[in-house]
Amino acid sequence: MKSQLVILGATGSIGQSTLKVLRQNLEQFELFGVSAKSSSDTLLKICIEFNPQYAVLLEAKAAQRLKQDCELAGLRTQVLCGAQAQKELACEPEVSHVMAAIVGAAGLEPTLSAVEAGKTILLANKESLVMCGKLFMQQAQRYGAQILPVDSEHNAIFQCLPSAIQNSLGSCELKTHGVSKILLTGSGGPFRNTPVSELAHVTPEQAIAHPNWVMGPKISVDSATMMNKGLEYIEAKRLFNTARDQIQVIVHPQSIIHSMVQYHDGSTLAQLGRPDMATPIANCLAYPERINAGVEALDFLELGELSFKAADFAHYPCLKLAIDACYSGQAATTVLNASNEIAVDAFLNKRLAYLQISQLVDAALQQEFSNTEVNSLAEILALDLQARNFSSAWLNRIN
Ligand code: NAD
Ligand code: MG
Repeated sequence: MKSQLVILGATGSIGQSTLKVLRQNLEQFELFGVSAKSSSDTLLKICIEFNPQYAVLLEAKAAQRLKQDCELAGLRTQVLCGAQAQKELACEPEVSHVMAAIVGAAGLEPTLSAVEAGKTILLANKESLVMCGKLFMQQAQRYGAQILPVDSEHNAIFQCLPSAIQNSLGSCELKTHGVSKILLTGSGGPFRNTPVSELAHVTPEQAIAHPNWVMGPKISVDSATMMNKGLEYIEAKRLFNTARDQIQVIVHPQSIIHSMVQYHDGSTLAQLGRPDMATPIANCLAYPERINAGVEALDFLELGELSFKAADFAHYPCLKLAIDACYSGQAATTVLNASNEIAVDAFLNKRLAYLQISQLVDAALQQEFSNTEVNSLAEILALDLQARNFSSAWLNRIN
């Protein structure tokens, strides 16, 4: 029997990379369902190629269009609409694997539903762990859902850890398995050589032109500010249960080493590869086996120099805000995520300057609501909304 896969956020960058891996492995995996926000044309192409059982669009008009097109094309695909249908798709009993590739906080609820249905979760949507990591990992344990990290750094770390830790993510004890430190690497983004004094005027076009990776617009801006590394720092804490002295961020401009794990005996294990998300996706899909990702292995004789340096907080204030939020608690990380989403969206729409992204996030984190106690999903979603309202009002004030 083939494994049945659902891709939430199928039309995006991770969604497309997942389809690339799927194409290489159709004897083992079948596309059961796909979802997206509004891009009915891209979803139609996917339906024509893979003929999934279900396709869900969030927007009604787009869903109506897709439904007609699928009928015209004579596909078996049933087209559904709305957030509830998307959640239900991820929980269908036939489904074994769910790729969580929606961008932002919108990914939390459908991904958590899939966790509570005990699915194997290929987790790209790091924002769910940033907002709600404690509950998310608790529910995974409770409902027997395996969480497999897709984010290239966390996938690299996962690959370098012993299986005892791989099978107890969220509650693992690094020390008892001889792990001393996790080294989280990041390229430093497109502005790593731009002097701080010149950052005031950088544009969204420059920010999304990442030197090594091709990604969606939000994560591309997050990579430029290194908020992405900050979100990943929080993601790593949730997955690998790291204490402050067990994790370090290192700038590695070539993106060849995707992260490393150090052991008490002095060993450092690293995972290396081309900067192509198909590799970590294939690793998660096949875990604990290996499948073809359609990615060539590295040729070390062609590889240039690999270099490393410390991350400079003056250059990347968002990274510092995220690390501080990580130790302040779940309310702070929820607020960090929400205000960052509003700020990045405003920056992409030219309503906010690049350096104001960190100013807005900082202002939100200084509000009293950032120190409240949040435990349930309802409390987290309410706080997320409160932080968004604050951030929108802040934006209106400066515009
Ligand atoms: P993207 O913008 O390219 O795609 C986002 C997808 O989510 C699209 O299919 C879109 O239709 C869907 N979507 C957006 N809002 C939605 C909503 N409200 N409801 C349902 N679907 C919605 O984003 P991406 O770059 O593919 O990133 C997806 C996730 O993966 C993010 O959380 C990102 O941090 C993470 N990630 C991405 C990469 C990468 O290389 N792109 C690497 C690591 C992690
Ligand atoms: Mg990453």
